[in-house]
Amino acid sequence: MSKVIIIGAGGVANVVAKKCAQNDSVFTDVLIATRTVSKADKIVAEIKQHMPDSRATFSTATVDADNVPELVKLINDFRPVMVINVALPYQDLTIMDACLETGVHYLDTANYEPKDVAKFEYSWQWAYQDRFKEKGLMALLGCGFDPGATQAFTAFLAKHHFTEIHELDIVDCNNGDHGKAFATNFNPEINIREITANGRYWENGQWVETQPLEISQDIYYPKVATRKSFVLYHEELESIVKHFPTIKRARFWMTFGENYIKHLNVLEGIGMTSIEPIDFRGQKIAPIEFLKAVLPAPESLAENYAGQTCIGVQAKGPGKDGQPNVHFVYNVKDHAECYREVQAQGVSYTTGVPAMIGAMLMLNGTWMQPGVWNVEQLDPDPFIDAMNTWGLPVDELAGIELVK
Ligand code: NDP
Repeated sequence: MSKVIIIGAGGVANVVAKKCAQNDSVFTDVLIATRTVSKADKIVAEIKQHMPDSRATFSTATVDADNVPELVKLINDFRPVMVINVALPYQDLTIMDACLETGVHYLDTANYEPKDVAKFEYSWQWAYQDRFKEKGLMALLGCGFDPGATQAFTAFLAKHHFTEIHELDIVDCNNGDHGKAFATNFNPEINIREITANGRYWENGQWVETQPLEISQDIYYPKVATRKSFVLYHEELESIVKHFPTIKRARFWMTFGENYIKHLNVLEGIGMTSIEPIDFRGQKIAPIEFLKAVLPAPESLAENYAGQTCIGVQAKGPGKDGQPNVHFVYNVKDHAECYREVQAQGVSYTTGVPAMIGAMLMLNGTWMQPGVWNVEQLDPDPFIDAMNTWGLPVDELAGIELVK
């Protein structure tokens, strides 16, 4: 019933497009628009090859999503109901501007980050609240897995298991092996910027800053492994502590192997992760952009990826009966299974499926309402039901404290 534009044609866009192709009673007409159109063409060719029964129609176009007039023309020519932005966080504001100008709804999976400052926060996008409301349009921010499903898990814990959440730990384990010496699972520039930045967590009403990867502990990830995990700052912490003010401490943990950290330390030590442009043969180039060009593309990791991801949220606080409670909600996903289904690795899969689900819940009216929204502000139940239907089964573990 709905026309949508997907912007971007990377690892995540590939999954969103293929999940739209599966969900063809909702997504009937999809345009994939991106910078390098051959990548969008490849996705469409794979849909035709692997999903010949899909009734959804796919087409492709070139767009520079940094350019608002180009975006406006693209949207006006295709006339979608919404835009699913799975390009890079740098493009969030230009795409939101174009959506406002053309009167279409908006969804993304990562909050805005300026290209020249390694800093991400919701303030820039929250500032669009009044404009989206006035136009009767919805913008759904950060609807991937983390951010995204982790906020739905938080809202689910608050709704079904706690009278108040006091401590929240989001844990993200990739226990997969892609066989490469060093590679990032999603856009290298965004990924490395996130990890090399100082850590930060919320405690007693304020942010506590840490050195990069300063705090760690071994965490047991159910059905997967016990893995050393590090405190990072992650964007959903900002909106979660705003929308759940009873939270006294909120942290985000991610696993990294020794080999990964060793490579990252060397790359950082020699300046290869810097975002400061240098002169190279008469050209200005940011070392991290060059690094991205030599690292394997995230989508190229998919074919030989083995192992699982496990991402979940542990909450502590008084339960529904007023007694101290601890509860964990999580998903485990197998990389090879993702490849068989949509020719993607697990990190792209776990991001792309929630984006498709968020778009579906907007298009079918379940979540649709004017304004700028974070996932935890919306009813988690239909989202979690859809995760179970669309390939991300949700599990729960009661009464066991996995994160100390
Ligand atoms: P990729 O780098 O694989 O893909 C990004 C795509 O965006 C590429 O096709 C790229 O084009 C395109 N693009 C970049 N700049 C522009 C531009 N100016 N105009 C048009 N297209 C552009 O990234 P991923 O697919 O791995 O990630 C996509 C998004 O998902 C990112 O924002 C990332 O932060 C987010 N993400 C969110 C997660 C979550 O759980 N919430 C987890 C993982 C990722 P080209 O091919 O020419 O480079």
